[in-house]
Amino acid sequence: MKTRYRCPDDALKAALAHAPPAGGTSSGEASAQVGFIRRRLEQLPPEQQALLTVAFAPRNISCPCRRPCCSGHYPNPEWARALEAVVAHTAPLLSGHRPDIRLRTAIVDNLLTRTAETQTDLAQRCGVNRQTVAEHTAILATALMGTRHQGGAFDHALARIDVSLRETGIVGDPVTGPVADTATDAPATEVVEAAEAHTA
Ligand SMILES: [Zn+2]
Repeated sequence: MKTRYRCPDDALKAALAHAPPAGGTSSGEASAQVGFIRRRLEQLPPEQQALLTVAFAPRNISCPCRRPCCSGHYPNPEWARALEAVVAHTAPLLSGHRPDIRLRTAIVDNLLTRTAETQTDLAQRCGVNRQTVAEHTAILATALMGTRHQGGAFDHALARIDVSLRETGIVGDPVTGPVADTATDAPATEVVEAAEAHTA
């Protein structure tokens, strides 16, 4: 039974909860859907993929090995790579400021994961003054999360994956019925064209 998600957030959280399956070792309909959502995500530009991965993938993955040396979880490399990519991508936004990759990483992380940290705490953690934190946060928040009047890069990425997943029925209103079995990797327009060509 396929799951229909009410919003792309939940679909992405489900798809990104575990490391991507290596070399087709997974089976079953649930993991097929996870693979499908992941492929839809991979169709977006890399910077949009990175924004969504930081927002919805877990920072840590739980490990069931139970070895005494294992803390039970480990940092999710996919999440860490995505954060690095967003941080690299935002560098030009702060070209007029003294570069501080540690501060930028912390601000991007907090913004995308909706982590509430006071500017005082952030300033202390990164060893900079509060004014610097405020300036950098304002620039990054506007670019990534938008303003009251305009969406940011994250909003645009979320809107794109929303359209893509709705097209396939993976995201949708639960009252409209089950997920169509015709959902494939092909964009919906191609499916429609193919169907029309068939009946012509
Ligand atoms: Zn372990």
